[in-house]
Amino acid sequence: MEFSSKLLEDAVYEMSQLPGIGKRTALRLVLHLLKQPEQRTELLSNALSQLRNSVNFCSSCHNISDTELCEICSNSKRDETLVCVVEDIRDVMAIENTSQYNGLYHVLGGKISPMEGVGPQDLNIVSLIKRVKEGTVNELIFALSSTMEGDTTNFYIYRQLEGLAVTTSTIARGISIGDELEYADEVTLGRSILNRVPFESSIKAS
Ligand SMILES: [Zn+2]
Repeated sequence: MEFSSKLLEDAVYEMSQLPGIGKRTALRLVLHLLKQPEQRTELLSNALSQLRNSVNFCSSCHNISDTELCEICSNSKRDETLVCVVEDIRDVMAIENTSQYNGLYHVLGGKISPMEGVGPQDLNIVSLIKRVKEGTVNELIFALSSTMEGDTTNFYIYRQLEGLAVTTSTIARGISIGDELEYADEVTLGRSILNRVPFESSIKAS
């Protein structure tokens, strides 16, 4: 792609570094921004740099939060004996949208994936086991996508929990294998949390 301006080329290059954005889409977005009032671009760049500079993760569940403890963890109406283990923040948002779940979360920050060089030490697993050892958690609900990486991660955590007084369950799969949680519709996802099954039986089934 030939550019008539280095400034334009740089902006398109940076935009095209985003997932799912090719060079052509990047160019379209950049030209769109140029057509908008200058203030629009400033609002966008300010929001991004403020997010980057001030982003905070909940000290308990690792959800993105503006406060030390996120709104979910600090809400006394939530059931703190239930913790739903998810891959990332999008899953928290998807499950919250179902309005079917009243427990807390634990955001792992990814899945164990030897192919991508992600090991257990790269994820928020130690803090999860610590939460369980503190004794308030009665049940962990695994809600990772049912890919090989998701299954490996569930099983790894399950093994770490041996000897601890906690029940483990996994969300029922109305969702087909390999589907990511965020793409499941709210009704299906809500139902799969309510109809969760003991984790042990999910291992035997597979
Ligand atoms: Zn939290």
